[in-house]
Amino acid sequence: MSDQEVTRRAVIVGAGPSGFYTADQLLKQGFQVDMIDVLPTPFGLVRSGVAPDHPNIKTVTRVYEKIARREGFRFFGGLALGRDVSRQDLLDRYHVVVYAIGTSDDNRLGIPGEDRPGSYPATRFVAWYNGHPDAADERFDLDVERAVVVGNGNVALDVARMLVLEPEELAVTDTADHAIEALSGSSIREVVVLGRRGPAQAAFTNPELRELADLKRAGVVVDPKDLELDEASARWLEEEADPTARRNVELLREYAAQGPREGTTHRVVLRFLTSPVEILGEGEDGPVTGVRVVRNRIEEQDGRLCAVPTGEEEVIECGLVLRSIGYRGRPVADLPFDERRGLIRNEGGRVCGEDGEPCVGEYVVGWIKRGPSGVIGTNKKDAADTVAKVIEDVESGRVREPQVDDPEEIRAWLLSRAEDVVTWEGWEAIDEREKALGEPQGRPRVKLVRYQDLFEAGRAAAAK
Ligand code: NAP
Repeated sequence: MSDQEVTRRAVIVGAGPSGFYTADQLLKQGFQVDMIDVLPTPFGLVRSGVAPDHPNIKTVTRVYEKIARREGFRFFGGLALGRDVSRQDLLDRYHVVVYAIGTSDDNRLGIPGEDRPGSYPATRFVAWYNGHPDAADERFDLDVERAVVVGNGNVALDVARMLVLEPEELAVTDTADHAIEALSGSSIREVVVLGRRGPAQAAFTNPELRELADLKRAGVVVDPKDLELDEASARWLEEEADPTARRNVELLREYAAQGPREGTTHRVVLRFLTSPVEILGEGEDGPVTGVRVVRNRIEEQDGRLCAVPTGEEEVIECGLVLRSIGYRGRPVADLPFDERRGLIRNEGGRVCGEDGEPCVGEYVVGWIKRGPSGVIGTNKKDAADTVAKVIEDVESGRVREPQVDDPEEIRAWLLSRAEDVVTWEGWEAIDEREKALGEPQGRPRVKLVRYQDLFEAGRAAAAK
C-alpha cells in the first residue's frame, strides 16, 4: 500500500505477542503501524519470559518478524510511555493508540518475611536468567540445598526446572551467561513446589507437567497421600473439569506411583494443599532459612473450590523462596487503572474512564486487557477482538483526528525522544550480533544483557 492510500495511523505500545498480533490485524485493515517499546528489543515475554529450554516456543518470533517487515510497520525501541512519551503525545499523533504493555508486577503473598533476602518474586528470577537488562545486576544466592517455589502455574514449573537443569542442558540454550554461570555452580538439590489447593486445581498445563519426567538429573516426587481427592474435588473432576485438569491428576498419579527415577541426584517435589504463612530467616530481616507452611483442605465457597487452612503447620527448611503466584499490571502514565483487577480499565478492549465511558481512540490488548492468563497464541484471538472494536469505532466515526499528520515528522519526533532509539534495522543488527556470539558455542544466541551493549549494537545498523 502506498503512503497516499494510508488513511489512518495506529501506535502500539508494547512489542510482545499481543502487540504483534494487533499490528498484523491493523496492517491488514490498511493502518500504518508504529510500535514502541521500553526495551531496545522486541518480543516481550517471548524473549524475556519463555524459559530458555523451550526454544521451540520462541520460534513464534519468525511470525512477528514477518509482520515487522510488512510495509507500513515501524519499530522504535527504548521509548517508555510516561517517561519519553506521554499519553497525550500519542493521542496528538495517532488516530488509534493500543496499549499492549503486559502485566509487569507480581502478586504478593502478604505474609511476614516475604521481603527477606532469599525470597523473590519468580518474575525477577525469570528476568535474570532470560537476560532482561533490568535484571543484569541481580544476584541470587544458589549456595543452598533446597528452594521452595510457591504457586502451581506454568511459571512455577519453569523456574523449578531451571533450578535443576544440568549445566550441559543449560549450555546449549540462550540463558543469560551470568545465569548459566550461577546455575552451573548451584548447590540446590531439591526444589519443593507448593500448591495451595489440590492436584485437581493445579494451573499447570499437561506438556509442562509431563516434561518434568525428561529432566536429566532430577526425579519427581509426589506423595500419594496428596492425591487423595476430597469429595468436592473428586466430583468436580468427574463432572465439570476440563481435560487438562483430569490429565494433570493422571500424570501426578503416575509420578506418585513411579517415585523419582533411579540414578537422579536432584528432586522436584510437588506438594499440594500447602500454603506458606511465614518466610523464616535469621533475625528480623536476615536471609531465608525456611518457610512455615499450613496444611489446607478444600472447601466450596460461592461455587469455587477454595483452600482453607486446617491449622496443621510445619517448617520446610530452605535457603531460597521464589513466589510464583501470578502477575498484575502496573498503572502507567495517567491511564485509567482498575486497581482490583490490576488492569487498564476497559470494556472488551476499549479503554474506559472512571465513568465507564470509552476514551475515544484508546484500546488495550493482551494481559493488560484481560489479565495474565493463557498461552502466547491466546493473544491472537484477543488482538482480533480488540481490532474488531477499532474497526467498529472507525466505521461509526468514533475516532480521533490527530494534530500531527506527517508520518516522517512523527518518526523524527519519536527518534528525538531519547538519546538512543532502536529501529527495526537496529534490532536486526542486535539480533545478528547475538546470533554470531552464540554460533561458535552451538547456542541460538548469546544475549546482550546491558542497555549500553544493546544500544551500541543497535547503532551499528544506523552507521551502515
Ligand atoms: P497462573 O497460571 O495463574 O498460576 C498462578 C498460581 O499461583 C496458581 O496455582 C494460584 O493458585 C497460585 N496462587 C495465587 N495466589 C496464591 C497465594 N496467595 N498463595 C499460594 N498460591 C497462590 O500464573 P503463572 O504461572 O504466572 O502463568 C501465567 C500465564 O502464563 C498462565 O496462563 C500460564 O499458563 C502461562 N505460561 C505458559 C507457559 C507455557 O506454555 N509453557 C509458561 C509460563 C507461563 P490458585 O489456582 O489456587 O489461585
